[in-house]
This record gives sequence, structure tokens and C-alpha cells, in this order.
Amino acid sequence: MSKLDTIVKTGLSDDFAAYIDDLKSEIRGAYLENDAPWIVCFSGGKDSTALLQLVFYALSELDEKELAKELHVLSNDTLVENPAISKHVDGQLERIRVYGQEKLYKHNPGLFFVEKGKPKIEERFWVNLIGRGYPSPNRWFRWCTERLKINPTSKYIGDSLERHEKVIIVLGTRKAESANRAVSMRNYAGNGRFRNHTLPDALVYAPIADVSNDDVWSYVLLTPNPWGGDNMDLLDIYGNACAGGECPFVIETGVQSCGKSRFGCWVCTVVDRDKSMENFIVNGEKWMEGLLAFRNWIYEIRQEDSQYVPPRLVGKVQFGPFLLRVREEMLERLLKLQDGVGVELIGEEELNITRSLLEEDKKAQSAGGMRRYFFEMSKGERIAVVSDCNVAEIKRKRLGPIYLKNIKFKKSEDVTNKYLKSKRVMYYRVKT
Ligand code: SF4
Repeated sequence: MSKLDTIVKTGLSDDFAAYIDDLKSEIRGAYLENDAPWIVCFSGGKDSTALLQLVFYALSELDEKELAKELHVLSNDTLVENPAISKHVDGQLERIRVYGQEKLYKHNPGLFFVEKGKPKIEERFWVNLIGRGYPSPNRWFRWCTERLKINPTSKYIGDSLERHEKVIIVLGTRKAESANRAVSMRNYAGNGRFRNHTLPDALVYAPIADVSNDDVWSYVLLTPNPWGGDNMDLLDIYGNACAGGECPFVIETGVQSCGKSRFGCWVCTVVDRDKSMENFIVNGEKWMEGLLAFRNWIYEIRQEDSQYVPPRLVGKVQFGPFLLRVREEMLERLLKLQDGVGVELIGEEELNITRSLLEEDKKAQSAGGMRRYFFEMSKGERIAVVSDCNVAEIKRKRLGPIYLKNIKFKKSEDVTNKYLKSKRVMYYRVKT
């Protein structure tokens, strides 16, 4: 039996229908528990689609009198989203707005909001990658998640808290290991429903945390989408029905990382390959080839020391930004790509700031080679980063460069001769 057959069989079974009813009833209970507004985070992926469907269906069974608190659907636009996914999300948001204001909250549309968060201009991707020369993000220096995703969402939550004593953030995150259905429902019983968020007075509610991947697929593929979207589109986006992960809606540091899987930024270099974009291309979106080539290029040059300002030692080793000539080449290639594909890849305001940062650095360079930005590549204690495929954790008492040939690697078979022979200084931080 194919995976899709299993999903269909599951979705049509009586016990699955009962499970969904239990989830809806749990969601209604949580909604009625207090009068704090709900902010439902929506990325457009299957998990947040399943979550929002469940919320809408659950609340549609309440009386108008009970539907008396604000409901916000919050999306986040990093401004470097995969254009095809971005288009899908924009279409969904508009339908969600119409459904919310004209159906679910018809009695009081002023209580229903659809919003899209965006990073502040100085925190945007190109301003930092090209304007400031930040290294293309990797697992050890993922400077983008906070700037592009967490901060805009935190701002929205913070602004809401100025108007309300408390807010509930409703998330579609799921645990890697889902519990069986009975256990999952038991987990909600008692007071385990909400957890604290890092922002005081904000609580997090994740009603599908224990729902399995297959159950989510069964639900989104076999339940009519209340706002009239076509969930079959999700199959195209994911490549196949069971491919699994997506970039979760990240609302705070240290909880769940993004970039591990492919439902995120088209420029993401945290993953080795952008399988989602590769899949789009295989399925006919040939125009994305240029985007993929650009992403792969900024991934590759991240590996080369020759592209960076050399490290300096000020208490601890810090790595310099991409060289000015590399950043200029990036911008040139990006603008050429943008012209070629006819899709906005860098907004005008962002382009202007990026250019002025490059100009400032050019002037500084001709005035004496000064660079302003240096980066600690890892926040961990004494973590040495060799390459994307290998990490060696070492203890060091003295500061100073570390040479790869002296390091015992965790997976030495993955270290190529090129790296072993090089005298490349490792990225590391020593606690002071
Ligand atoms: S998807 Fe990748 S590039 Fe985008 S914020 Fe997450 S880690 Fe950064």
C-alpha cells in the first residue's frame, strides 16, 4: 500500500474522525479558558494549515456570544522567501482574511486580523549579507533566524501586549516523536495546556504538538479547507505527500531551529541542498534555476577563507566579513538575476541601504583598510567548526589559532584532504 493510500485510509477511518473531534473540543476549551487574544502563527506549511483549519472548525461551533475575543492570524515574510511559496501564502492569507471577517467573525469582524510581519530594514538579509558582509548562514552562525523571523514576530506580540494584559500564541509546532493519539489527548488534560513564552505575559499553546506527520497529512488532504484554499497545492510545495519537515514558525531562540528542512528562505545556506527548490525545478519551474545557482554559489564561497577578511585576535578569534569585492560581486549577480527572472528579490529600500553600506566600506578601505564587522562564529564554548560536514569539540586553555591537522574529528572520514592539508584556522570561541 502506498503512503498516499495509507493517508487516505487513515483519514477516512472512524477513530480518526473521533480524534479530530477531540482535538477541536480541546481547542474550544482553550479558547474559552480566558479572554486573552489569540495570535495564530501561520507559515502556509502543512502543520500551520492543519492548525488553522482545526482552530476555524473548532471555533465555528461556538455561539457568536462566545466568539468574543480577538483572533489574529500572523504570518512572517523574511523577504527572501521562496517566491513560489510566498505566492501560495499570500493567496492563502487573503482567503483567510475573507473567511475570518465575513464568516467566522461576521458578527464582529473587528475582532479578526490577518497580519504579515517583516524584518526591520537594518535586519534584512541582503543588508547583512552584502551590506555588512555577514557569512552566508550556517549551523553555527545562523544570524538570520533571529533577525528575519523571531524579531518581527516578537514585535507583533509585544505590540499586542501593550493593548492586552495577556496573549496566547497558538503554534502548529509538532514534536519529532508523536505520542499515540490517546496519550496525546491526555497530555492536554489538567493545566499542561499553555507554556510560558520568553516575553512575559505571553503564553504558548501548541495543540497539534503530538499529532503525527501522517495524521497531519490525512487531515489537510481530506478535510475541505474552510477558507477555500486548495491543500493539494501543498503536495507540489513539499514535492511528495510524505516528505515530512518544514521550517517551523520560530518565535523565540533556543526552542526550535529553522533552516533544517525546506520550507524557508530561497537563500538558505544552512541546509546543504535546497531540495524544495530542486523539486520545483524538476516539476517545471525552470525559471528558478538561476535562484538555485545563486544560492549554491553563496553556499560554496562560504567555505573559502580567501573570500573573507582574515581573522583577528582580540581576546578571542573573530572572523572578518566577506571581502568587499565579493560583496560587490554578490550584488551585481543578484541584480542581474532579478532582471532575468522578473521577480523582486531585493526591495528598493533594502537595495539603497545595502549600497550605502558598501560605499561606506569602500571609503573606509581606501582610508586605511579598516573593517567594522567581525563575527564570533559560534556561541558554544570551545566549539571548533571545520566545515559543514564536521565539527570537532576541543578544550583549549590558551588563545591562538587552531590548525585542522591537529584536530581529532568526530567523523574523520568526512574531512576531505583539502581541509586536512589546509592550515585554515578553525572558528572557535573561548570562554573568558
Ligand atoms: S530558513 Fe535558513 S536563511 Fe531563512 S531564517 Fe531560517 S536558517 Fe535563516
